[in-house]
Amino acid sequence: MSNIAPLLDRNRAFASDPGARQNMPRLPFIPNLSLYIVTCIDCRVDPAQVFGVKLGEALVQRNIGGRITSAVLADIAYAGYLVEAKAPEGPYFEVAIVHHTDCGSTLLADDELRHGFAQRIDADERTLTDTTVLDPARTVQTDVSRVLWAAEIPQNVHVSGHTSTTSTPAW
Ligand SMILES: [Zn+2]
Repeated sequence: MSNIAPLLDRNRAFASDPGARQNMPRLPFIPNLSLYIVTCIDCRVDPAQVFGVKLGEALVQRNIGGRITSAVLADIAYAGYLVEAKAPEGPYFEVAIVHHTDCGSTLLADDELRHGFAQRIDADERTLTDTTVLDPARTVQTDVSRVLWAAEIPQNVHVSGHTSTTSTPAW
């Protein structure tokens, strides 16, 4: 049996609930809270849980560390462009970047592990070093600046940076 099988059961229950999709935004999908959250893929920082984000309230983009990469910038630019082109009266959205403590990206600070992974994906080791979230307050500020300085992001898009604490239970 597939690992996703129990979630497919939950999805059937969701799909059959007529009240589950009330207040859904229509295209161009300006989310109900006008938020675009960028955060880590870590299962401990799921915005639906740690921020109580409900369906339709926020665009959520996740990658290793919640870093602002060129691919993330392109996606934010697309969302911004859609607002400009399809709903120029707005509202425009806020990009909220969230980095967290105890991030799995910190493992890339280990020279051997980083070197091995760089070889695996044929990447530049410096790029992987830049991905590492050793100090969330510092990296989130770096990424806020990346969005603010990106010419492809409309000026009406606001940007904020946040850190969250992830405590791992002692074994
Ligand atoms: Zn993380």
